[in-house]
Amino acid sequence: MDNEQRKLPLLVHRDHRRTFADNLYVYAVVSRRSKGVSIGLNLNPDKVCNFGCVYCQVDRTTPGPVRDVDLVRLRDELEDMLDRVLSGQLFEEELFRQTPEPLRRLNDIAFSGDGEPTTCPEFPEIVEMVAEVKRQRGLDGVKLVLITNATMFHRERVEQGLKTLLANNGEIWAKLEAGTEDYYHQVDRTTIPFQRILDNITQVARVTPVVIQALFLRLRGEPPSQDELAAFCDRLEEIVRAGGTIKLVQVYTVARKPAEEYVAPLSAAEVDAIVALVRQRTGLAAEPFYGPA
Ligand code: SF4
Repeated sequence: MDNEQRKLPLLVHRDHRRTFADNLYVYAVVSRRSKGVSIGLNLNPDKVCNFGCVYCQVDRTTPGPVRDVDLVRLRDELEDMLDRVLSGQLFEEELFRQTPEPLRRLNDIAFSGDGEPTTCPEFPEIVEMVAEVKRQRGLDGVKLVLITNATMFHRERVEQGLKTLLANNGEIWAKLEAGTEDYYHQVDRTTIPFQRILDNITQVARVTPVVIQALFLRLRGEPPSQDELAAFCDRLEEIVRAGGTIKLVQVYTVARKPAEEYVAPLSAAEVDAIVALVRQRTGLAAEPFYGPA
């Protein structure tokens, strides 16, 4: 991230609302990580997730508006959002007016949401539909990004969706934010074994370069220990040794209201120190993203 971007305290970066007007599934964010506009597809409107991350920003005190994804409506909302972004109409909206010129570009369409997108039963059909819309509009340069906790890659239907994604300028951003089973369970709160995540990431990283998303935080006042961070670097190295390619490690911290009150962001200096450690220990590319000033 360049210095100019580090200084942007913009509302558009803070407000990652998943709703846009009356949309159920499609939203837009100006993303620091994407360095442009990202059109997000919420494939989990029911807010159900197979993780229970302590830092999750999804408000689960109220139920989601609908349970299932209606593909016809999803397509309509996507086409409408593409029209708004590509025509510039989006930046007339109050929420997007402050967007700086260099960030007014469509970077990607991201499968994300209020849960794990690959758990959506229609995941492969949705990826196919989105790829078709992208093709029809000649948006070959626009990436399809899957933001995922990597829990489901071994399922056949998910594998099918991943193949379509990768055949259409797709990129996988997989969550990995622990080095040990114990810390993983403390942060991500799931019954899914840590090894499953590591195996799935390794498998996919053998096929395509993967972006690792690592959120580190202060848990009951304590940052991750040096041992935990060393173990995290070990896990990254194991993926590479097993033939996987890691394109980038994004180290970031809590930027919005977390699920648990005992969670707090790391300082910018702490994030920088983790980035430096990852670079030095693994030789991988790593980038910092910070919490609120
Ligand atoms: S995987 Fe994402 S949606 Fe699920 S609990 Fe974690 S942060 Fe929230």
